[in-house]
Amino acid sequence: MAEKPQLVSISPEDIETDECLRTYTHVYSPDLLIDQVAFITGGGSGIGFRIAEVLMRHGCDTVIASRNLEKLSEAAKKLTSATGKRCLPIVMDVRQPETITAAVDETLKTFGRVDILINNAAGNFLCPATSLSFNAFKTVMEIDTMGTFNASKVVFDKWFKDHGGSIVNISATLGYRGQALQVHAGSAKAANDAMTRHLAVEWGPNGVRVNTVAPGPISGTEGYRRLGGSHAETAGAFRAIPLQRAGNKTEMAHAVLFLASRAASYVTGTILVADGGAWLTSANDVEKMLGIISSRSAKL
Ligand code: NAP
Repeated sequence: MAEKPQLVSISPEDIETDECLRTYTHVYSPDLLIDQVAFITGGGSGIGFRIAEVLMRHGCDTVIASRNLEKLSEAAKKLTSATGKRCLPIVMDVRQPETITAAVDETLKTFGRVDILINNAAGNFLCPATSLSFNAFKTVMEIDTMGTFNASKVVFDKWFKDHGGSIVNISATLGYRGQALQVHAGSAKAANDAMTRHLAVEWGPNGVRVNTVAPGPISGTEGYRRLGGSHAETAGAFRAIPLQRAGNKTEMAHAVLFLASRAASYVTGTILVADGGAWLTSANDVEKMLGIISSRSAKL
């Protein structure tokens, strides 16, 4: 058999933890987002943290908003010190519209504008439908779907309606093939994908673009740890992915940066799948997934 060619690694810099990058190579002009402000739900950790960093490295100030103030404040300090841009941490729960309203008011008071909304906050875990409580399903819908609607509506009413703007939702590919043990998150994200198109249609005349990035397995994240990413990696499951590896957080941030910025000025209502081709080829084996769950609980 012919030897496999040595591929040059084309994935950008990333690190596994919620720290800023030690080195960064711009893919776009460093002033792409100059003087803009981005509001990022769940920006204190994982993919949301890296999105905040990469947007700030392209010139904008950010607000990172979620429930845990300590985590947010620490993240904001790191982001400002690495990028030189301002980052305002705000406590907010996407399930409570009044907390979002207060957060957006504070954003407008501090920065005088908001140009970009990233709906990244979400909660997820592996669970078969038969074991999933009614409340667990409802909570995921409330955070992922209603939270995305709540934040979009508040930002639209308070600013985007009169000034335009760009919304990027962070989705997932779970619903495309009915991923095992993910009926809650898959259903919630499928609703968000529909929401992306509905709001793109209704708010386009106001100069608002609404798009989505759907990540595959992304290393160095809570999602990756909770959804069995390392297990899949050691079991060689990523060899089935066309690009043969997990993605990284910087790659997701670059996809978001494209959609959020003027580079995508004529793009709205679209879902950009950033998964190395994974959903096309990866196994969706319910028995194997149940085995992973029971071997995990046996260790607890
Ligand atoms: P993560 O670090 O756990 O990020 C989720 C964030 O949401 C946290 O910062 C959390 O902060 C915030 N959050 C949760 N509930 C909230 C609420 N009620 N109100 C406000 N904020 C809330 O996980 P991640 O893996 O980076 O995931 C980020 C996004 O990527 C999610 O939308 C996820 O579905 C999507 N995604 C991830 C992967 C992956 O492989 N990691 C794959 C596909 C899609 P607090 O605890 O402070 O509230």
